[in-house]
Amino acid sequence: MTVNVPLLDLRAQFETIRDEVLPALMEVVESQRFIMGDQVRQLEEAVAAVSGARFGIACASGTDALLLSFMTLGLEPGDEVITTPFTFFATAGAIHNAGGTPVFVDIDPATFNLLPELVAAAITPRTRAVVPVHLFGQMAPMEAIMPLAAEHGLVVIEDAAQAIGARRTIDGVWRRAGELGRTGTLSFFPSKNLGAWGDGGMIVTQDEPLAERLRRLRTHGGAKQYHHDEIGTNSRLDTLQAAVLLTKLAHLAEWSAARRRNAEAYTEALSDVDGVVPPAVDPANEHIYHQYTIRAARRDELKGHLTERGIGCAVYYPKALHLQPCFASLGYAAGSLPEAERACDEALSLPVYPELERGQRDAVIAAITEFYR
Ligand SMILES: *Cc1c(COP(=O)(O)O)cnc(C)c1O
Repeated sequence: MTVNVPLLDLRAQFETIRDEVLPALMEVVESQRFIMGDQVRQLEEAVAAVSGARFGIACASGTDALLLSFMTLGLEPGDEVITTPFTFFATAGAIHNAGGTPVFVDIDPATFNLLPELVAAAITPRTRAVVPVHLFGQMAPMEAIMPLAAEHGLVVIEDAAQAIGARRTIDGVWRRAGELGRTGTLSFFPSKNLGAWGDGGMIVTQDEPLAERLRRLRTHGGAKQYHHDEIGTNSRLDTLQAAVLLTKLAHLAEWSAARRRNAEAYTEALSDVDGVVPPAVDPANEHIYHQYTIRAARRDELKGHLTERGIGCAVYYPKALHLQPCFASLGYAAGSLPEAERACDEALSLPVYPELERGQRDAVIAAITEFYR
């Protein structure tokens, strides 16, 4: 029997919101206000609220949210920014493009997130910032990273592209992804948990002067039109995308809950399968499962087995950033960050999207169980 279980089914999601999203788009079309229409400001407020932040600054992509955040640091050549090598390329690419040098430290093999003690060991007089990435939808240990950064005068920028609405209990209080760093950066790439119909991103922050500066930077650095205090760029979110995202945001909590239910069912079924390690959830975290990522023995063979049976799966990420050719000049050798490298060899992400049906989920479990029998 072959079933069709895509890794992500955006068409299924569209069918559930068609009657809401199309009129919302038509409203923008009728207004003809395609740049900075009312929906952009509404979305900024709503996403800031979901992130426990005071301000949201919409921009053109998650990559630009990072880049604009780094631009506010005024990085000088040789300034270092510590981050994880087990993340999407943009995290480190934006550090470089803002004039900094990425410094990679190894990850926690349980959660795939940054390990604060390794961050501490990598701090030098040139370190300016730390970038925890809330990978796959669960937050990094901010309660350890924030005081460490404060002690050394470092800025924390949270890459929350995969973690919108994720939260973590710290001293008995729920803290959201993007709430604690100087800025938090979000992506609305279509495959993210809150996905636009194209590119989009947002920066969230508690800091009002910084929010104003970021608003200027996204429109060429000018507070007034044709008057420029500093040099920015053009990085806005289209009103049409804001309308799509506002419609979807109303469903985000229920979608995240559905992802968690799928994840719990997988973990229960796969825990006894020899060869599979289900993803560990730090008990302090409420995970939003941007990805449900197992460690798998003979990972590439399993991937082939699932693909043959019509089951979508993907390797995030096949090559750690410290070993990418573009960063060869940084001088990291193979084996230097062994947990990140092992994760690249073992990680496999399974379909966990909210519209996944019970039968589809069971088919994924059956195919994995069969492979290891
Ligand atoms: C998707 C992603 C980005 C970049 O977002 P884009 O909107 O694709 O530019 C940055 N960091 C991480 C961890 C991501 O997953």
